[in-house]
Amino acid sequence: MENKIHKRLFLIAAISIITTLCLVMGVFYKRFQEQVSYDLRTFGNVVAQTQGWEKADSIAAKENIRITLIDTDGSVLIDNQADEALMENHRNRPEFIEAKENGTSQITRQSSTFSNVSTYYYAILLEDGKVLRVSREVGSITSIFFDTLPLVIGMSLVILLIALILSRLLTRTILEPIKEIASDIDHIDEKKVYKELIPVVHMIQQQHENILKQSKMRQDFTANVTHELKTPLTSISGYSELIETGMASDQDIQHFAHEIHKSSDRLLTTINDIIRLSELDSEGAEVMEKVDLYEVAMDCIESLKVHAKKYKVTLFLEGQSEMINASPERMVELIYNLVDNAIRYNKPDGYVKVRITHQDQKVILSVKDNGIGIPKRYHERVFERFYRVDKSRSKATGGTGLGLAIVKHIVLNHHGELSIDSEEGKGCEIKVSFQKV
Ligand code: ADP
Repeated sequence: MENKIHKRLFLIAAISIITTLCLVMGVFYKRFQEQVSYDLRTFGNVVAQTQGWEKADSIAAKENIRITLIDTDGSVLIDNQADEALMENHRNRPEFIEAKENGTSQITRQSSTFSNVSTYYYAILLEDGKVLRVSREVGSITSIFFDTLPLVIGMSLVILLIALILSRLLTRTILEPIKEIASDIDHIDEKKVYKELIPVVHMIQQQHENILKQSKMRQDFTANVTHELKTPLTSISGYSELIETGMASDQDIQHFAHEIHKSSDRLLTTINDIIRLSELDSEGAEVMEKVDLYEVAMDCIESLKVHAKKYKVTLFLEGQSEMINASPERMVELIYNLVDNAIRYNKPDGYVKVRITHQDQKVILSVKDNGIGIPKRYHERVFERFYRVDKSRSKATGGTGLGLAIVKHIVLNHHGELSIDSEEGKGCEIKVSFQKV
């Protein structure tokens, strides 16, 4: 990449230099032509006024100017560079014809006497009807180009060399900080970078932190899973061993069987929740359809009625039909988990109110109870996997510590928003909002 950038920069510089040189040469050639014609016109006018052909001769020879005096009939009377006697009649020369008509004429053409040379002619009609013509070779753009070629090549080489060095320096300035960042990502903060790189550095830093955080979370999760599975399995193994060795009385056997049953149920719900979470993690885009959240809430409440009765908790449903785009199974799971928690962490004669309303373009689901509540400092943490505030009640009521993590995951997958309002001893309200259809 370094070589590529370097080559490209150098190429851009080379193209710019060559284009500039060509343009500059074109402009100079034009200016040069203008200067030649201006000088020649001035010289011609002076000679015509003074009629001093001989005096002008020495200047003309030095400046390589040709002076021709043409008679009224076109015959050449004087020419300082050619033999008049051998010269053909000039009556058909365009500058002669034009000067006769207009008094003066200026023309650039190839000379007939000296072939293949681009020549600038200036002709003036004198008072006696003769025509004075002064001319000078201007040379073609190619001849000027070839004349100045060594100088142009020399200059170009020097400039190209400077461009080469500068492009290498520039490439280095651009790439060096990037290389440094790549070589030591842990000390990215200490690196000196230019300001355009700062957002990239921040992004890499953020991603790096996220990767570390995720890796830590994965480690914690594995440790938690191991612990959550080990506890019921240890008790199953222990009780079954007691029965196997015949150390348990008939009365004990019933109790041990009950404990084994309880532990295996716990094991099953934990495994189910872990599988649910990993499914939610790996699922791509959910298949969404129009769902009436009120209907889903009604079904959940119906199926949790017996459960609520066991805890002496009354369930209420308020609000009206509200349509959202969602996966119906996930919505059942979400409401079920929230209502189940509100029942399990409640007090005898408590209530759970599920309300479905809308505000602006949002449909809001609220699950509110007047149970034991969650102290403010745990509000964020309860959505973490395996985080329990009331550990003993969670375990006694069959909790896995994964219910709210699953809720959070479902809300995120549905681009919804989640909020919690709770105070210890006063109850808890969890609100979820979704985009209205
Ligand atoms: P669990 O399976 O233990 O209920 P959750 O992830 O569903 O796990 O909830 C995490 C913790 O948050 C629970 O252990 C409990 O301490 C607390 N919690 C959840 N819902 C409520 C609620 N409605 N009232 C009081 N505490 C709650």
